[in-house]
Amino acid sequence: ATQSQYDIIVIGAGPAGAVVSALLNQRGYRVLVLEKTYFPRFSIGESLLPQSMRFLEQANMLDAVHAAGFQFKNGAAFSCAERYESFDFNEKFTEGWGTTYQVQRDKFDKILADTAEQQGVEICYGQTVTAFEYHQKTAYVTVADEDGDVYKLRSQFVLDASGYGRVLPRLLGLDKPSNFPSRTSLFTHIEDRIQDENYDRNKILITVHPQFQDVWYWLIPFSNGRSSVGVVATQEFIQQLDGETDDKLKQLINESGWMATLLQQANFDTRVGELTGYACDVSQLYGDGYALLGNAGEFLDPVFSSGVTIALKSSSLAASVLDKQLQGEEVDWHNAFVLPLQQGIHTFKEFVEAWYDGRLQDVIFTRNKNAPIKRMISSILAGYAWDTHNPYVKDVKRLSSLAELCRNR
Ligand code: FAD
Repeated sequence: ATQSQYDIIVIGAGPAGAVVSALLNQRGYRVLVLEKTYFPRFSIGESLLPQSMRFLEQANMLDAVHAAGFQFKNGAAFSCAERYESFDFNEKFTEGWGTTYQVQRDKFDKILADTAEQQGVEICYGQTVTAFEYHQKTAYVTVADEDGDVYKLRSQFVLDASGYGRVLPRLLGLDKPSNFPSRTSLFTHIEDRIQDENYDRNKILITVHPQFQDVWYWLIPFSNGRSSVGVVATQEFIQQLDGETDDKLKQLINESGWMATLLQQANFDTRVGELTGYACDVSQLYGDGYALLGNAGEFLDPVFSSGVTIALKSSSLAASVLDKQLQGEEVDWHNAFVLPLQQGIHTFKEFVEAWYDGRLQDVIFTRNKNAPIKRMISSILAGYAWDTHNPYVKDVKRLSSLAELCRNR
């Protein structure tokens, strides 16, 4: 038997799923979220961008996030050997939020999901979506609960917010290889014991390996004296290092320069995690009875901490289009969802490419800064990658000529 007391079923209760379900609940729809795990659960992706605050605000989740006591964040700092540069996100071209938080995702994701639930969204944990069908204007999902019992639910539409689970891309054969090479990330949480007064806890610190420009680290401080630390390199580079994953991470941190000094007293008390080949793409972001949100759609690269912001942007766009569709309006998902979403993804993609081929590092570390241009770059680093008034969003290829200029100065 299939039950149909829901208008919309959302797969996954991560940030994309929690926000889209809250936005649709606000518009009066009956929304059910099916989540495979139980919260709190670990997730990588702890540094937010100010642009994401706008979407949390739309979903009426900001009060709960402010109250949680997360680490304040107002920018990004970059270091490589003796070079250091920082961006203050309040000094940016685009209007809007200039600050945000660095969050332990187990806690953050639970706050968003609980807030959605308090607003009236129904969330069922321990429920794994295993199949999808669409016929006669009805979307069906098959669900397995923890005891292995299988049941079917129907609704008018399914939003896939299953992140790295990539439920609909796998079931419908939509997976497409990413254009980015396969990289590996090693990461952990530490008691950081950082004493250095020059270290700014209000910023993520991105460090480039002094010898290898495509190997980089993140240091994301939390508000409780702990930090998330990780390194990203090609899979081959990580494979040829000696030892287990913890040895590899520690060896690379030792080679990092200033970050190694900062972390001299750190207590590595947590298991090291490893992820490989997380960049992904799909052949289409929507189809009959479904759309893909957040990481279930496309994931680029972690270097600009853009993952959650892109996920929430996709939720915000999808909620508007779906609302119109369910009210009987003729909607065009390509023009109203895919193209606007891809505007920002395109900006970040060019920035990611320019990061790894060195152009962006030349721009970031240049000695002669031009203040208006720095504000434009700062805006994109703050997540305002959809603001086409910004010349570096409108024509992101301008980065190449800017890098050229920076190199010749
Ligand atoms: P998720 O948060 O992954 O949530 C998906 C949910 O779906 C999960 O709870 C999962 O259990 C559930 N699910 C999966 N399969 C099923 C199923 N079959 N049935 C039901 N439920 C299911 N982003 C940032 O913004 N800042 C960062 O600093 C950052 N750093 C990163 C570092 C690395 C190394 C990597 C790889 C990524 C990083 N990201 C970062 C990206 C970030 O992790 C993701 O973009 C973000 O978590 C996406 O959110 P989401 O809601 O789409 O998916």
